[in-house]
Amino acid sequence: MTALVLVAAVVIIFLQIWFNLFTPPITGLPVLMYHKVSEDSISGTSVTTKQLARQFDYLVSHNYSAIRLADLLNPDFSWPENPVLITFDDAYLNNFELLIPILIKYRLKASIMLPVNHLGLKSSWEPETPSPLMDYSHLMQLDSEVIEFGLHSFDHKNFNNLTQDERSNDLDACFRVLNEKNFPFVPVLAYPYGAYPRKRPEKE
Ligand SMILES: [Zn+2]
Repeated sequence: MTALVLVAAVVIIFLQIWFNLFTPPITGLPVLMYHKVSEDSISGTSVTTKQLARQFDYLVSHNYSAIRLADLLNPDFSWPENPVLITFDDAYLNNFELLIPILIKYRLKASIMLPVNHLGLKSSWEPETPSPLMDYSHLMQLDSEVIEFGLHSFDHKNFNNLTQDERSNDLDACFRVLNEKNFPFVPVLAYPYGAYPRKRPEKE
């Protein structure tokens, strides 16, 4: 009897390892959302280079494949086994200086989400700690194999507090300005403050 139980256990372990039979499939796409990268100081929206390297090392050693926003829009995209989307909101200048070398080291790619009307300025939505943002000359220098760009709105306002018209105008302005500059971007929006309009008929 004991031998039978042992054999059954071995068979189950084999099936689990070989076919992953008893693990529920992960649904949805893991999205890692970052903002600032710093050498050592940690604030609510920053990650240190050391932490980032450790997290990227985890992804690589657990066989995650970084995918792009553009892949999401491609119906013929062949999905890797462990996809992950790595995003950086706000286009902070510290991304230009500190993030790219780490991405290259781990052969990962990331999407930088642009607050279009603030590029080249400071993050005025953080009055206590406004930080410099990349301008177009920085963005153009980024290797398109490593970085792609998405939208993080035009004015970095909370979409939850805007009317439908205001939201449309904000997005139209993103398209207009980036297209005028012939600047490549994927039409995917990361909501400022992660705030998206819930169903509120009176606001629609
Ligand atoms: Zn933001």
